[in-house]
Amino acid sequence: MNKSANKHSIAIVGGGAAGITVAASLRRRRPDLDIALIDPATDHYYQAAFTLVGGGTFDLARTRRSQQDLIPPGVDWIRQPAEGFDPGNTSVILADGRHITYDGLIVCPGLQLDWDRIEGLQETLGQNAVCSNYAPELAAYTWDCIRDLRGGTALFTQPQMPIKCPGAPQKIAYLAADHLRRSGSLDDTEIRFALSGDVIFSVQEFVAPLQAVAARYGIHVDYATTLVAVDGAAREAVFETTAANGESERVTRRFDLLHVTPPQSAPDFVKQSPLANDAGWVDVDQQSLQHKQYPNIFALGDAAATPNSKTAAAVRLQAPVVVENLLAALDGKPLPAEYDGYASCPLVTAHGRVILAEFIYGGKVTPSFPLDPTRERRSMWWLKKHFLPFLYWNIMLKGRHWDIPHRPRE
Ligand SMILES: Cc1cc2nc3c(=O)[nH]c(=O)nc-3n(C[C@H](O)[C@H](O)[C@H](O)COP(=O)(O)OP(=O)(O)OC[C@H]3O[C@@H](n4cnc5c(N)ncnc54)[C@H](O)[C@@H]3O)c2cc1C
Repeated sequence: MNKSANKHSIAIVGGGAAGITVAASLRRRRPDLDIALIDPATDHYYQAAFTLVGGGTFDLARTRRSQQDLIPPGVDWIRQPAEGFDPGNTSVILADGRHITYDGLIVCPGLQLDWDRIEGLQETLGQNAVCSNYAPELAAYTWDCIRDLRGGTALFTQPQMPIKCPGAPQKIAYLAADHLRRSGSLDDTEIRFALSGDVIFSVQEFVAPLQAVAARYGIHVDYATTLVAVDGAAREAVFETTAANGESERVTRRFDLLHVTPPQSAPDFVKQSPLANDAGWVDVDQQSLQHKQYPNIFALGDAAATPNSKTAAAVRLQAPVVVENLLAALDGKPLPAEYDGYASCPLVTAHGRVILAEFIYGGKVTPSFPLDPTRERRSMWWLKKHFLPFLYWNIMLKGRHWDIPHRPRE
């Protein structure tokens, strides 16, 4: 490839929810802009529906589209993984050794699933009733395991935060419990939800409603409890529980179903780059989404060091902020846009029931609808199952900004 092909006005690293949205939005605003999108993946997934796939109510094929069909016309797709950043020389280093230089850079490669931090897990994932909604090739197996369960012990895990979609680990426990209730096996099944943290959800207003849902199904919630090892063939999982005095003990539990949410962190190549903060995430200002050290670099989505809930819903509102601010930065103007930390989490509590949690920085509840957001609703199930996938594919990924204003709850 010649030298000029390696130089672009804007380079975007990662073509997931965030990368495609900002690429499309930039092209809408400035059709002549020279944009390169760097991503080796040929498939794009609507990950938010993986919970429904695992719950047996959404077809996996409907979560996948060809990346080729989503990349906006005119955007140069570089099918290589980025391996590093050299911000001093305004360049991204690719796995094939090329350096892509830019005037402005958007960093959004998502996060990394650290399966190998749980001993024995990788060897048994996708078999021996060990499942996870966190990978497309495994989500359908979650439903196989739930459907085939006839009593016994079902374990669900949630690692240390931050993770993407912090509600997802418990949503699948509720869908499983609801299925068991309908099939008459709930009373014969011990269900445990083990979480590393000490609270079931980070936004206070939703804690009591979610505890009530867990209690309704008879789910035991084990706080400060982390999955550390799995022996799939023996159907045994090892948990470490930390007591209030800091002492920890290990407990081995037999299981008939184990749904694992893996530990998660920033991608290694981001962690090891000059763009990372101490925790490894891209060190951007939480309102402007501009890098704290490099003004021509912005980040959004799961890789950004912003303290919002890592969701596609957050990306939807971050994208226009990044686009407006990056274009202003390149024009030498003040940054006009601010992100307020909005995220939403449709907390599926049963087949046909959802609590729609919407909130901004500081855990302030900000519903889009004039309804009590803490209640389980059929209308929000419809929104989750039908409307949000439509919004994702046809509005968000097309770079159209469409928003129902969310407001702090009185
Ligand atoms: C089980 C589950 C349930 C969820 N439920 C919800 C929900 O109900 N609501 C909600 O809003 N969100 C939900 N999410 C979260 C949502 O999917 C993510 O927050 C969102 O996809 C983040 O977008 P992103 O662009 O930052 O990352 P991603 O969409 O993950 O995209 C990252 C992209 O970067 C690419 N990439 C990775 N490494 C490199 C590299 N080295 N070089 C170049 N490219 C690279 C990848 O190939 C990928 O295309 C859920 C996620 C999961 C897994």
